[in-house]
Amino acid sequence: AVRVRFAPSPTGMFHVGGARSALFNWAVAKQTGGTFVLRIEDTDASRNKPEWVDGILAAHAALGMHADDPTFEGPYFQSANVDKHGEALERLLVADRAYFCDCTRDDVAERTGNKQSGYDGFCRVRGLERAPGRALRFRTPDDGETQVVDLIRGNPSFPNAAMEDFVVARGDGSPVFLLANVVDDLDEGITHVIRGEEHLPNTPKQQLLWEALGAQPPVWAHLPVIVNEKRQKLSKRRDKVALEDYLAEGYLPAAMVNYLMLLGWAPGNDEEILPFDEMISRFRIEDVNSASAFFDLKKLASFNGEYIRAMSVEEFVAAVGPWLRAPRAPWAEEQFDPAAFAAVAPLAQSRVALLSDITNNVDFLFLDAPAEDEKSWNKAMKPGAVELLTDVRGVLAALEPWEAEPLKDAVAATGEQHGLKLGKAQAPVRVAVTGRTIGLPLFESLEVLGRERTLGRIDAALA
Ligand code: GLU
Repeated sequence: AVRVRFAPSPTGMFHVGGARSALFNWAVAKQTGGTFVLRIEDTDASRNKPEWVDGILAAHAALGMHADDPTFEGPYFQSANVDKHGEALERLLVADRAYFCDCTRDDVAERTGNKQSGYDGFCRVRGLERAPGRALRFRTPDDGETQVVDLIRGNPSFPNAAMEDFVVARGDGSPVFLLANVVDDLDEGITHVIRGEEHLPNTPKQQLLWEALGAQPPVWAHLPVIVNEKRQKLSKRRDKVALEDYLAEGYLPAAMVNYLMLLGWAPGNDEEILPFDEMISRFRIEDVNSASAFFDLKKLASFNGEYIRAMSVEEFVAAVGPWLRAPRAPWAEEQFDPAAFAAVAPLAQSRVALLSDITNNVDFLFLDAPAEDEKSWNKAMKPGAVELLTDVRGVLAALEPWEAEPLKDAVAATGEQHGLKLGKAQAPVRVAVTGRTIGLPLFESLEVLGRERTLGRIDAALA
């Protein structure tokens, strides 16, 4: 049976790249009737924090990878497996696949005349005993090749002679990542290691460890790097990478999942927006592209808009709920009018890309005065705008009934008298009433806002 795993280190906010890896593993587990193992690699105590662990678990749940799903196993914690790591190190030592070494970096550089060079094998034949400060190195084969089976990159081959005798345990006896990661995979019965491309250089070394520990190495799949619009690897210093930040901005988990699944994979037939279950059944790890995947924020936002529009109005109203209340909303609780919101909700649903866009679209209904936006104001208040607004005000004061259609006709007719098409004529009205040059359809907005407040805002703009 297929057993895959996702093995994040809890050293920061959960990254969208990690989410992509987790999803690809999940898809493979689901479609093969296999198991997805979540293993938290928490052995670096100086860099781990419990809140990062919580973040990993919360992210999985948000993305639909639930711990109570029969496909899900874990979470396991690497720190709970230290005995096994120690046993594996002893086995390597006993089998003479590893030896102690007391060389410093400077020693090696002095002997090889090259600071960059790998380990020169000096301690291979010295037969050093275990002692504090002595690292344990794995004895790599002198000839031959290590070929790995990689479902995405063909089957790359690595000459063993070019592989240095790498460290498996530090001077204090603690295992390094390479070793602990292999021992855990072995212990958890992992058959397929699907992970980021940055680990490819580790793979031949790890495969040698699998073999040295007497086990059949897994099949590997190294996922393409994710890059930003400048083709730089996505990084937390440059880019917004925390999944939590996206969710907090009003990206929907379902849209994120859909978009993340397409980072390196395509369902074919030019289809892009698909239900999770369908993506999972159509996903093939062999079809993942090895070329770097562009994290296209515009495309993600447009996906999100599509998902928003696919909701029922009730679902939409529920989803934007948190943005309509403190602390996210710029208005006070008592200023919010649910009936007014309900009246414009379908209009808003058809135009927002992010849930967080809702506040700017409806704030004119709940704030005492329109938002102040000098740029919009200057753009709309062209010469002649004051005269136009004055006339519009006069017409609207007597308009019956106060409904979108007659409001539109009235502004159109007044605009015509000023030699302006409707689009130009409504701009100053919109800015006077909402504070912005763009927003919900204006005349429906005015209908909901009501005559008194509309006239009050025009008066304020003219004052
Ligand atoms: N903890 C490692 C990481 O987060 C795991 C690498 C792997 O998947 O093997 O990069």
